[in-house]
Amino acid sequence: MLLAWASGLALRLPFKSAVIERNNYRLFIALKYLCYLGIIAHLLFIPLFLQLGVPELAIINVFSVLLWVASYFFNRAALHSEAFALAATEAVAHAILATYFLGWDAGFYFYFFSTVLYIFLNHNQSFRIILIQSSLILLTCIGLHIYTHQPEFESAISGNFLDALYFMNLFVNFTAFGIQGYFFRKASTENDKKLELLATTDPLTGLFNRRKMLELAESEVVRFQRSKKPFLMAIADIDHFKQFNDNYGHDCGDYVLKRMSALIKETLRQQDVVSRWGGEEFLIMLPDTDLEGGIQAFEKLREMIANTQHEYAGKIFSITITLGVSQFDGGLNINDTIKLADEALYKGKREGRNRIVTVQSIQK
Ligand code: GH3
Ligand code: MG
Ligand code: MG
Repeated sequence: MLLAWASGLALRLPFKSAVIERNNYRLFIALKYLCYLGIIAHLLFIPLFLQLGVPELAIINVFSVLLWVASYFFNRAALHSEAFALAATEAVAHAILATYFLGWDAGFYFYFFSTVLYIFLNHNQSFRIILIQSSLILLTCIGLHIYTHQPEFESAISGNFLDALYFMNLFVNFTAFGIQGYFFRKASTENDKKLELLATTDPLTGLFNRRKMLELAESEVVRFQRSKKPFLMAIADIDHFKQFNDNYGHDCGDYVLKRMSALIKETLRQQDVVSRWGGEEFLIMLPDTDLEGGIQAFEKLREMIANTQHEYAGKIFSITITLGVSQFDGGLNINDTIKLADEALYKGKREGRNRIVTVQSIQK
């Protein structure tokens, strides 16, 4: 049984790295750098302990290096839990033995703290097991403290050497904490960015969603209050969009939406804001633009879209859009400005589509 498990593991330990799943990536990277640290620290301990006249610990460190190398390869083979178990067992066992031989003041008890930190990092492990392991480590730590503080306890080395070891251990553990802190910080800022993107964009087109668009429009209103420069809001709606779904399937409809989004973004200026307002409707905001300039920009967009041919599954077709345009000049709030753009749009639809209708032209 044990043999079968071990040979199974060996087969999964290729020298080429395995594909690391996204949710394990943080774990993988943090452990990888910890393995480098483990290998280097224990390699340094071998000559150091020989020099200090503690050959038992030098021999133990040869095994420690091997265990850290094994942990490195387990990690690379995407066997993170096994890699963690090996690394944690080594760190705890080494800390116990080194404290047992050298005493409390050599500072090997720091490894108990960093091991607990790494145990918590392994999200594949249940919280109950993590608590049990951490409590056992704490009890071991207390036991060793009591043992090494008995009057008859004597360290295998003395004075300055103990200090040197203490500082080395301090350094190694600071580095271990630093590695973990760094990768956690990196992972959490990346997650924040991902969440922000999810909350503000439409997944199909990658454009801003309704919520983000309203937020941006509100900040444009604040800017207007200072500069008094009007801006434009327009709703662009794809004409007869339903026919793409009905004739060529829903995937074709999605394709059209993506193409339209890209075309609108490419044609307008960088500072113009484009969002997906609803099914096949886009809300566009042109900051710092008067009606005349805006109509020119939208006319260019309308024409460009109408003159572009698309191909989907061997079918060639063109698309047109109708736009309702409304100017924000402080007379109405942003919601009413959008509502007026919508009314203009429906006038454009009634008049035959593929055109631009401004609120001003309705009100005349
Ligand atoms: P009009 O020229 O009057 O705007 O006609 P239309 O067909 O474009 O408008 P209508 O409102 O009748 O149909 C819009 C269609 O858009 C109906 C809906 O199923 C489809 N739709 C909405 N969201 C999506 C989407 O995300 N993907 C796809 N493929 N279709 C969508
Ligand atoms: Mg439509
Ligand atoms: Mg519509």
